[in-house]
Amino acid sequence: MAKTKQSTHISTGDPGGVLLRRGGEERFQGDPGDDEPVPSKVSIPKVPANSLENVALTGTAYQSSVAYLGYAPRAIDGNRDPEYSHGSCTHTNPAWRQWWRLLLPVVYRITSISITNRNALSERLNNVELLIGNSLENNGNNNPRCTVISSIPSGGTSSFNCTGMVGRVINVYNEAYNALTLCELEVYGEPAAPAASFSAEVMGRKIEVVEKKLCWSDALLYCREYYWDLLSIRSVDEQSEVEAVLQNATFLTKSFSIPTKHVWLGLRRYLRGSTWFWMSGTSMSYVKWEYQYIWQVSSPCGGMDTSDQFYWRSLPCWNHFHFICLKGWSPVSTVCVNFSCRRQNLWSKANRNNICSRALQPGDKLK
Ligand code: CA
Repeated sequence: MAKTKQSTHISTGDPGGVLLRRGGEERFQGDPGDDEPVPSKVSIPKVPANSLENVALTGTAYQSSVAYLGYAPRAIDGNRDPEYSHGSCTHTNPAWRQWWRLLLPVVYRITSISITNRNALSERLNNVELLIGNSLENNGNNNPRCTVISSIPSGGTSSFNCTGMVGRVINVYNEAYNALTLCELEVYGEPAAPAASFSAEVMGRKIEVVEKKLCWSDALLYCREYYWDLLSIRSVDEQSEVEAVLQNATFLTKSFSIPTKHVWLGLRRYLRGSTWFWMSGTSMSYVKWEYQYIWQVSSPCGGMDTSDQFYWRSLPCWNHFHFICLKGWSPVSTVCVNFSCRRQNLWSKANRNNICSRALQPGDKLK
């Protein structure tokens, strides 16, 4: 489906200078993107994006290759130093189709991205693409394009207006043969998730307890769209920490003066059997069920009590509860396909016995 985006290029080396607007630019997966934008002069907005926090510092950086110790995280070390010998710039091998990628912990509504160029060989960033999206297909290089960078001054920082674009994967991609070097890349934006939530950390994993109440299927889709997945719990220690988090999430007990008794987890049962699994692909090495139900006649959706013993229970899938999302990418071998209470009929016809067979590959989409 087509999406219309606008992108602008602001030369911050000259605060009163020229802004090139590249409107109506589009790129689709598998589309080589042959529609070159038409520049035109417009005025510069007085406040770019500096009032927002640089969220790139919270992400993880990767790149296609490494040369001269120019590792990918150097572009998100919070240091714009453009002198390569000072150790704050990245460097790939000289080759075709080199890329640098930032994976953010959650999906952001991007306002702008600033890139600092090296003070030598600055022409290497001429005509590279700045891409934003949620797909890891082709190492993230198939995502929609914010802009094609015409040039960035030697040792300077340029800001690219990507307002309206949403994603957690940000790529700098050079189709041509060259080494790719970035001295810093900053991302300004706000989390895209629309509902209020409560952030916490559980055994090193970042989670979000979402205030919105949804049915199990839509809770899963919500987590996969804005974070990573519905939460899985792998050990008694994680269970204990989640219990502590729930005790501190005041909206669970105070909303509508009726205590909320359950939250959704990523627990799902195969429709034709008694086997439960985590939608995130995590193995079920730890469980905390209260009773041994006759699973075949219970609901196939699972959640947790929010008080007392915090037992796990099968609960009617259509009940609307708060839910817990896991943030950030989790390295597992298998991830389970989406359900939706709106789409489940279509889904079950096509995949009746094939819930959990899709292995997570580097080319998989994040949602
Ligand atoms: Ca740097």
